[in-house]
Amino acid sequence: STALVWLRRDLRLADQPALRAAAAAAERVVPLYVHAPGEADPAPGAASQWWRHHSLAALQAALAAAGSRLHLAHGPTVAALQHWARACGAETVYATAVAEPEAERTAREAAAALAEDGVALRVLPDGLLTDPHAARNRSGGMYRAFTPFWRTVRAQLDPPLPAPSPHLPPPGPTPEPEPLAALGLLPRVRWDRKLEPLWQPGAHGAERRLEAFLPAGAAAYGEARDYPGQAGTSALSAHLHFGELSVRRLWHALADAAEQGAAAAESVEAFRAELGWREFAHHLLAQEPRLHERPVDRRFAAFPWREDPDGRLLAAWQRGETGIPLVDAGMRELWATGWLHNRARMVVGSFLVKNLRLPWQHGEAFFRDTLVDWDRASNSMGWQWVAGCGADAAPYFRVFNPVRQGERFDPDGDYVRRWVPELAGLPKQWIHQPWAAPADARRRSGVTLGRDYPEPVVDLRESREAALAAFRSLSGTS
Ligand code: FAD
Repeated sequence: STALVWLRRDLRLADQPALRAAAAAAERVVPLYVHAPGEADPAPGAASQWWRHHSLAALQAALAAAGSRLHLAHGPTVAALQHWARACGAETVYATAVAEPEAERTAREAAAALAEDGVALRVLPDGLLTDPHAARNRSGGMYRAFTPFWRTVRAQLDPPLPAPSPHLPPPGPTPEPEPLAALGLLPRVRWDRKLEPLWQPGAHGAERRLEAFLPAGAAAYGEARDYPGQAGTSALSAHLHFGELSVRRLWHALADAAEQGAAAAESVEAFRAELGWREFAHHLLAQEPRLHERPVDRRFAAFPWREDPDGRLLAAWQRGETGIPLVDAGMRELWATGWLHNRARMVVGSFLVKNLRLPWQHGEAFFRDTLVDWDRASNSMGWQWVAGCGADAAPYFRVFNPVRQGERFDPDGDYVRRWVPELAGLPKQWIHQPWAAPADARRRSGVTLGRDYPEPVVDLRESREAALAAFRSLSGTS
């Protein structure tokens, strides 16, 4: 018999439920990836597609080394699956679940279309530790806040041990697949070269990063994770998003680090809670399919955003030229690397939404285009959290002060110096607020505001007051 494996966000061989089930059941296994970016809404951006290209290349090599072959096809997904199942004579199509509304609909439509040909589609859980539709509170509703969600889910969590790569039977005769380059995932203007030395998409790269992080990274995580200038977090987010690393494998690797005494239990638990946020984001998306554009707190639909007719403020933010060092450092890191530390995501987000008073959806869209780890659920939840309109958001009136944030989380200014080198000569007491430095301190450091580095595009105090007034103008907020 022949089985088709429809690869989705599970681009690895180890602990991959669809490949394992197919290998156990069939004499021929045909791994197939269908490229159909238009079926996701919103569609992934350029950085995410860059990662996907290289992740598929890595999977191609891994499957070839295992005596198999990756087949690539263009969408529409349902038609492609039907075509390939017929052409290979497959009786069953195996896949893993993708917890996003359109992806779930595509899987339902595929199941119905394949059933007409007598082919079964088996969708197995993967990617998350829990079923994002399942968790219920005492009154039978889905959770709107992280803490009670995670308390309940965490107490019941017992992920199975990861399974090794299966022995894959060969695919047998198959139709001619598309070459990877034909999917058009790489940008035409090759800005992506800058990402190549920084990331290694694919399961091998994921494993290397995990090994680099554990156990010392997990041990220090509780303390180190808040400082954007330190490599205190795992940077595994894109690997997790594309399923290059099994989240069950990560969970158990953390348990091992704790059991061997290499990392304190609290530090490991703090890291696991971040994985919990990832679960929660998908639980929210299951309730709010338009999470990326529709405020969970519906009052915010009427928020009086600032007019920015020529897009000057938005462009200053995107380019890291706002004149606020920590914000600019973050935005430049994002542009240069496709990634940003969580603290910096919160600071640049708060500045966009509160000080510039521009719609959070602009930020969501820019991150979607520039993050290699862009994830529909996590990015939408993150932006709603920052904007104060999410289910479990920071209250709107808590406005991050980027100067105080810098003094606390980048106390020596190293992060700013790395990404905003024109300020590198400023002493640390002024690095987060060059406009406040005495003129001779600036002169000695070789910085003239308005020439070497912008004046702040908005006054932090005034813009904060204006944001709070705008918030109070919403009905039901006072
Ligand atoms: P670690 O600290 O090592 O955490 C381990 C893993 O836990 C991460 O890889 C990630 O999968 C998960 N995680 C950690 N924090 C969160 C969180 N707050 N929400 C959901 N999952 C989390 N994360 C994305 O994966 N994709 C996004 O598009 C994304 N957009 C964001 C936008 C905003 C405005 C904000 C505030 C946060 C966003 N996050 C997003 C969450 C978080 O910033 C990143 O997951 C984290 O910075 C990735 O770095 P890391 O792998 O080193 O994290």
